[in-house]
Amino acid sequence: VFKSKLKDVAIPDVDIFNFIFPPTSIFSRFFGTGVPPRQGKTAYIDGVTGEAIGHDGLKDLCEDFAAALQGKYGLKEQEVLGVFSPNDAYYPIALWGALRIGCIATTANHTYTTEELVHQLRDSGAKVLLTHPVAISVALGAANAVGIPNENILLFSRDESDVAQKAFPTIKELLSEWGAKRAKGSITLRNFKLGKDAKDRIAFLCYSSGTTGRSKGVMISHRNVIANVCQVNGVQANVLSERLKDVLLAVLPFYHIYGLILLIHIASFRGNTTVVLPKFDPPLFLSSIQKYKVTTLYLVPPIILFLAQHPVVDQFDTSSVGIVFSGAAPLPWEAVNQLKKRKGFKNTIVQQGWGMTETATVVTMTPPEDVRVNSIGQIIPNLEIKLVDPDTHEEVGVDKEGEIWVRGPNVTLGYLNNKKATEETYKDGWLLTGDIGVADKDGHFYIRDRIKELIKVKGLQVAPAELEALLLEHPAVADSCVVQVPDERAGELPRAYVVLKESHKHDDQDDIKASINSFFGSKLARHKQLEGGIVFVDSVPKSASGKLLRRFLRDRAKQEWAAE
Ligand code: AMP
Repeated sequence: VFKSKLKDVAIPDVDIFNFIFPPTSIFSRFFGTGVPPRQGKTAYIDGVTGEAIGHDGLKDLCEDFAAALQGKYGLKEQEVLGVFSPNDAYYPIALWGALRIGCIATTANHTYTTEELVHQLRDSGAKVLLTHPVAISVALGAANAVGIPNENILLFSRDESDVAQKAFPTIKELLSEWGAKRAKGSITLRNFKLGKDAKDRIAFLCYSSGTTGRSKGVMISHRNVIANVCQVNGVQANVLSERLKDVLLAVLPFYHIYGLILLIHIASFRGNTTVVLPKFDPPLFLSSIQKYKVTTLYLVPPIILFLAQHPVVDQFDTSSVGIVFSGAAPLPWEAVNQLKKRKGFKNTIVQQGWGMTETATVVTMTPPEDVRVNSIGQIIPNLEIKLVDPDTHEEVGVDKEGEIWVRGPNVTLGYLNNKKATEETYKDGWLLTGDIGVADKDGHFYIRDRIKELIKVKGLQVAPAELEALLLEHPAVADSCVVQVPDERAGELPRAYVVLKESHKHDDQDDIKASINSFFGSKLARHKQLEGGIVFVDSVPKSASGKLLRRFLRDRAKQEWAAE
């Protein structure tokens, strides 16, 4: 067992709302001061409109939103708010408003199709849905399918040119209406406070396919989130006072655990300023770095590649960026070398983190003073890693590859409504990650392979099982196996090996491909499209018990793809 080299950090027994908006005693534990280092600072800036929200008023806004959830929508403790939206400066307010009164938030990828959203809303049991003009039509379709009434749908903002949107209140309208009611004393928020029970109470349901099957709701407790914030603070203890001054750019999605923890919770706890962007738009991204003098960028490899290679980057002053942090997918180190050669990033340190939804994000992180090529860093405080032979479950030592198992306070509670998947993945306190890694003698870790089914496209999850299930719904398809192929831009792309039904074996293959692609286009989000190609085969490899042997096709796919 590998243990963190850093000393354990204290994790307060409290709920997230009281952790983010704490009595001074929590602050003094970290910062040696009773005064929150946030006063007078901006918390969020809408990168498109320039609107700013201050740290000082943040708690009140959350409570105004909590009042609306409680008073208007009647959301009870442990009931679920769904958030289906690109990033918005009010996104954190919505989440903490829900947590303030003991509700749970489930965050969904706003590029989902109706079917994909239906799955998450139904599985999580969401009662109220907060969405955005760009996602409203899918939101309405899905809400309707799962029985969320139109009265329980609200918007971050409204596109006034769309008459249909007039029917739904915006979060700002609700904040002013319910803020006024709170001020008048015509509503009192119910009490909600956790102590030791923060361990078992769900705060967020983020969806992940884990090591196998379709996406499942990962039950993330209040304590999981608080633990990870404290653990990352522990890694950066020596530079924490510097990190308090960070200006961040939230271009990664808040709905994914990486954004949810690092950009929302860690940032707010520290009193950082975060510039919020709804999507990756290169000119806006670069001009925001320049305009707001962004100091730390949390990114995924495809955006780092863009920064390293695209000529337009030189037209902007990015010299304020001291740290580029990479996570969610393997980082090709060549991109780091290229980035460091650019004038705007000469002095930037590139750090990696590794983790997953099931670990409420970070497990390993590059120590700021010891960056090693290709390494995902060292174990963060309070955590243990075991490297295990995936077949025999025997532990392996230094310099030997093994499946990474993780144990510690940020390991989540399991999958909602799915005992079987929970038991397969969470064993005796250990989380089986499906990633193959290796540790050197100094305790630096490296990722070598991924043995779970998961495919990562631009850092986003694609579950082969979901694509295979959809392929089976296509009239020409008898069987299939989906595997990844490497792609410079996206990291990986899904490629399908398809067995046709007898009755379609002699059809024109290009026609079938086109038909499958258009079927996929109508059912699945952009990042799940079969951009690694479709290949027709007579059979797909299976074990005697009928289990798909993906490994064989993964190797074949790699070779074929390189030759194509
Ligand atoms: P997610 O739950 O979407 O965050 O996906 C987690 C998975 O993404 C991990 O189990 C890894 O397979 C992959 N991943 C995350 N961070 C890294 C990293 N720094 N290097 C390589 N793979 C990563």
